[in-house]
Amino acid sequence: MPTIASNKHYRVGRSKTGLGLFATKPIKKGTRIIRYYGPILDSRIPEHDDIENKYLFELNGRWTIDGSVRKNLARYINHSCRPNAESDVRPRERKVFIRAIKNIEPGDEINYDYGTDYFKAYLKPIGCKCPSCENKRKKLRAEARADRAKVKARAERKAKKAGTTSSKNKAAKKKKLNGHAVGKKNGARA
Ligand SMILES: [Zn+2]
Repeated sequence: MPTIASNKHYRVGRSKTGLGLFATKPIKKGTRIIRYYGPILDSRIPEHDDIENKYLFELNGRWTIDGSVRKNLARYINHSCRPNAESDVRPRERKVFIRAIKNIEPGDEINYDYGTDYFKAYLKPIGCKCPSCENKRKKLRAEARADRAKVKARAERKAKKAGTTSSKNKAAKKKKLNGHAVGKKNGARA
């Protein structure tokens, strides 16, 4: 059975995108960190089905956890495309636990992948701000900068070369004009 971390293993803190949940002690891979807690909504009850917030955690077609309650500190866990935790969904027990999938160090932000549906609905339109996507963007920007620098350097080299070639050509032309009888081969120029 997985060990359950006591509630002193994490704290709510400031993350780049607002608030987040951070480890305060080392958390071993496989450990249950926290339960994603909230009232269970039944989609067959119209009033339940009308509830709309971004903390709804669907267990299956019928049951959903409304994680918007204050007690649910797991709602502070941010999404990451390369997370250190995952949601362990137990539809029969109507429970969700967040479990470490890597060893997590004190100070690390805890995150899990919210899944494709959430990503498409909420994150893709604004651009995912998770560290993995931020790094990817940073890398792309650096690459684009390097490419631009390369193109510029190449253009400058070309311009320099063109400059020397054209003066050489001029010199060559001059020589030719001076050295040969002009118009011997090209009547039009004579
Ligand atoms: Zn991401």
